[in-house]
Amino acid sequence: MASYAGHLSLSAVLGAAYGSAGAYYYQMDWGPALLAAGLTTIGGVLPDLDSDSGVPVRELFGLGAVVVPFLMLRRLVNLNFTFEELVAVMAGIYLFVRYGMSEIFKRITVHRGIFHSVPAMAIAGLAIFLLYHNPDPQMRIYLALGTMIGFLSHLVLDELCSVDFSGVAIHVNQFGGSALKLYSQSWPVTVSTYLLLFSLGYVASRQIANPNEAWRTWQHRTLNIASGWKALLSQDRK
Ligand SMILES: [Zn+2]
Repeated sequence: MASYAGHLSLSAVLGAAYGSAGAYYYQMDWGPALLAAGLTTIGGVLPDLDSDSGVPVRELFGLGAVVVPFLMLRRLVNLNFTFEELVAVMAGIYLFVRYGMSEIFKRITVHRGIFHSVPAMAIAGLAIFLLYHNPDPQMRIYLALGTMIGFLSHLVLDELCSVDFSGVAIHVNQFGGSALKLYSQSWPVTVSTYLLLFSLGYVASRQIANPNEAWRTWQHRTLNIASGWKALLSQDRK
């Protein structure tokens, strides 16, 4: 298996190329171009979130905990939070990803399991597409695609490195197997992965078909929940 540094250097090169291509061929502004380069780079180390130990994984969750709230910033700003509420919500997302998600991952994933698979790559892309809101769907697709390119580079590199130079296969555990697999040895894992993939795909396709309508419904629902919470909290104070 390739090292963390190996994955990171490959995806950083791809990220630089992808960002430049966006700027050069599609006249992307430097903001989205740099964001895409960064997400491609992160995509290249994302599959190894399933390895339980080591500084890189902890670092990765730290990084994800910062990236996720910033990707959601546009959504949050549109919800008309006060500045302090915005800071509190972003801190909450940070803590959730940094400690909650990392704990969940530690418990439920096996290294080289379903996280190293083609459907997982699609889920990562869809997650970025849905987290990051932009009125222009092409911008969202651009960032999602970058993440998937980085992710794919990781899978390909792992696959190439799973046989060492003397031709001996490196042992991975029973749920491991090919990094470019389409399903897991465990069928509940496979079924839930595809369920997640299709539900995210469904939501994403509806948003592409009608970006403004979907956005308004989402905003409307979230505003209702937020105002409900505010009413509850202010009642509490009386
Ligand atoms: Zn890997």
